[in-house]
Amino acid sequence: MTLNELKTGQSAVITRVGGEGALRQHFLDMGVIPKTEVTLIKLAPMGDPMELRIHGYELTLRLADAEKIEIEPVCPGAGRAVSGPGRQQDGAESSANDKEKAFRRRKKDDAAGPTSHPGLGEDGILYHDPATENPLPEGTVLTFALAGNQNSGKTTLFNSLTGSNQHVGNFPGVTVDRKSGVIRGHADTEVVDLPGIYSLSPYTEEEIVSRQYIIGEKPKGIINIVDATNIERNLYLTMQLIELDVPMVLALNMMDELRGNGGSVRTNDMEAMLGIPVVPISAAKDEGVDELVSHAIHVAKYQESPTKQDFCDESDHGGAIHRCIHGIMSLVEDHAKRAGIPIRFAANKIIEGDARVIEALELSQNEREMIEHIILQMEEECGLDRAAAIADMRFSFVEKLAAKCVVKPVESKERERSEKIDRILTGRFTAIPAFIVIMALVFWVTFGLLGAWLQELLETGIDSLTGIVDGAFEAWNVNEVLRSLVVDGIFNGVGSVLSFMPIILILFFFLSLLEDTGYMARVAFVMDKPLRRLGLSGRSIVPMLVGFGCSVPGVMASRTLPSQRDRKLTIMLIPFMSCTAKLPIYAFFTGIFFPEHSALIMIGLYLFGILTGIITALVSKHTAFKGEAVPFVMELPNYRMPGAKNVIRLLWEKAKDFLMRAFTIIFVATIVIWFLQTFNLHLGLAESSQESILASIANIFTPIFKPMGFGDWRIVTALITGFMAKESVVSTLSVLFGDGSALLAAVAPAAALALLIFCLLYTPCVAAIASVKRELGRKWAAGIVLFQCAVAWVMAFIVFLIAGALM
Ligand code: GDP
Ligand code: MG
Repeated sequence: MTLNELKTGQSAVITRVGGEGALRQHFLDMGVIPKTEVTLIKLAPMGDPMELRIHGYELTLRLADAEKIEIEPVCPGAGRAVSGPGRQQDGAESSANDKEKAFRRRKKDDAAGPTSHPGLGEDGILYHDPATENPLPEGTVLTFALAGNQNSGKTTLFNSLTGSNQHVGNFPGVTVDRKSGVIRGHADTEVVDLPGIYSLSPYTEEEIVSRQYIIGEKPKGIINIVDATNIERNLYLTMQLIELDVPMVLALNMMDELRGNGGSVRTNDMEAMLGIPVVPISAAKDEGVDELVSHAIHVAKYQESPTKQDFCDESDHGGAIHRCIHGIMSLVEDHAKRAGIPIRFAANKIIEGDARVIEALELSQNEREMIEHIILQMEEECGLDRAAAIADMRFSFVEKLAAKCVVKPVESKERERSEKIDRILTGRFTAIPAFIVIMALVFWVTFGLLGAWLQELLETGIDSLTGIVDGAFEAWNVNEVLRSLVVDGIFNGVGSVLSFMPIILILFFFLSLLEDTGYMARVAFVMDKPLRRLGLSGRSIVPMLVGFGCSVPGVMASRTLPSQRDRKLTIMLIPFMSCTAKLPIYAFFTGIFFPEHSALIMIGLYLFGILTGIITALVSKHTAFKGEAVPFVMELPNYRMPGAKNVIRLLWEKAKDFLMRAFTIIFVATIVIWFLQTFNLHLGLAESSQESILASIANIFTPIFKPMGFGDWRIVTALITGFMAKESVVSTLSVLFGDGSALLAAVAPAAALALLIFCLLYTPCVAAIASVKRELGRKWAAGIVLFQCAVAWVMAFIVFLIAGALM
């Protein structure tokens, strides 16, 4: 039987994990390994993907992927016996008896007073020998990598560590955010926020970036943040980080939540088992952070590496995995040292078949063969294949640790609450209506309630500022051209883009709420099936929806997508969604040409954009974007209240980002357009708009639009100015044509319809292009502009032909 055949509420034990490469490794890293018990919680409203409970946390998995996993059903009653020792989750069936035991154990812990954790990372005692200590020279900058799973509270901790002292950039060569900052009160430190990851496998950009950073840039220490309410999941990464042999502390986050539910952690035991300092904290409540910092600084300053790395147990599988790892470690020791790769890490990665590490080690043919023999022997002895064996080794250790050190609440309040909320938000019949209501609400508040008002306010502000500057220029008799440059060019152009800022920020406010509460993961879960048909995954829906408001935040939001491929395809589709700036164009044209059917035509335009997006996606799926969307093995975190500080900081970052672009690319584009509009071909001042360079350029392009019946230089000029901001099309047309009747005379209704389609689909505005360039680079930005223009032309032509035949 395979996992996809499991019924809701049923449990089973995994017997074999199929699939290959990245997908399979991803399964294993997420804890889907042989002998583990899984329970099917529910299917997504459209029947795919599925939500599973495994090791005590919730995962989503597509049915097609689940088909590769073989299981053996657990018969109720005899359940535990089938699954063998260990590796069971404490699920809903845990008895009241357990609950009482948990409370009694916790009482005992509390009696010992607040947990102290002597030894690791502290002056003088136990692990730290003053006689042999060898501190880094005074003044060395202590760099720390902040690493952890997604939703473990990384952003919250990072903000609490660094305060306002942050610098955002990219890791070299990839669009993965690289945030760094100085720890408050410790000038000689730097924390780098690594992306949220689940393992150090070389399959996602985020994982590669993280291990590259730790191995390559050699931070002086690692701060590993772990969600205490989900230790089983989180420690898997911790063990891999420990193998990197860098001084490290473990920040046990969300302790407030764990304690609030009657759980606790024996920190001392955990320290002893892991060989690194463990500091319980609550990043959201700012508890324990100072202690964390002092431990981190201590281990980094004295370069106290983890005291344990040997997590393989001699008694597991008759010691097969243990012997294999140690055998390979002895074999490659010299190579690993030469390549600067930690030995234990090298051995495990060789066994997992990590091509990057194997290559970097430069092993001889002979050595490779010996290693292969050792691994084959191990596979035979333990009955697991190599990658599964390593995952098994890690999870067995984590399980032992959890059994010894963690007193779990039987059912946490947050878990219960999440389940209740999920009954509606991912419920079979309620999920999609709920999604529509939530998005509609977001849009209504953004555009109806707040955005339009703020936008007007800002516009008025910019207008009056423009007026003041204009007046001052006039009073001082400033050169006419300079005045026009500043007033007509810069203030008008940059101003019209800037006025979008409130809308962009409000949208981002809601986006960050949706993301931080954990709802976005649910959206991905609910919407995965239909989007998968288009070659995308569920997460793409939100950036695309945001695109209906404004492409800029849509493109920026695509950063949360898990794979480069999805990101590119999503960004390519976003401009096809009618953003609000296109609305004035629609209103203007339908008002003049089709006053009777304006609503119908507007709705039609929205649908046409979506349709074009769908066609583009389908075509790309079979051509440029062949291959599967990323494996959709995703964790569904508990719903949590986002911290206000996080949200404010994010808004500030986005605002800064947008402003910076407004004053670089957009600024330059504004000046170029102004120049083209103001001067004639002899670089003298143009007497009338017809003489301007812009008109001359427009004249070159008019033949292209002749076939669709709007090859008029004035319209083409308007289209070119629309490149700045879409609403400019309307203002330019009004200037060049005067009132509507001239336009009505110049363009036939069928051509007007074609023109509308062209406006809907052609190049995104300069602000959107600037965002694309930031996310995907120059080539992609240029490619998207050309592509959209080509699609717009073809579609407009088709519409012109059809409309011409019908009208
Ligand atoms: P990241 O994905 O790892 O960056 O996690 P975030 O910092 O965005 O946090 C995820 C969610 O957990 C947010 O809603 C936070 O407000 C919440 N959170 C973070 N730290 C704590 C904590 O110590 N206790 C509680 N109860 N919630 C927290
Ligand atoms: Mg975060």
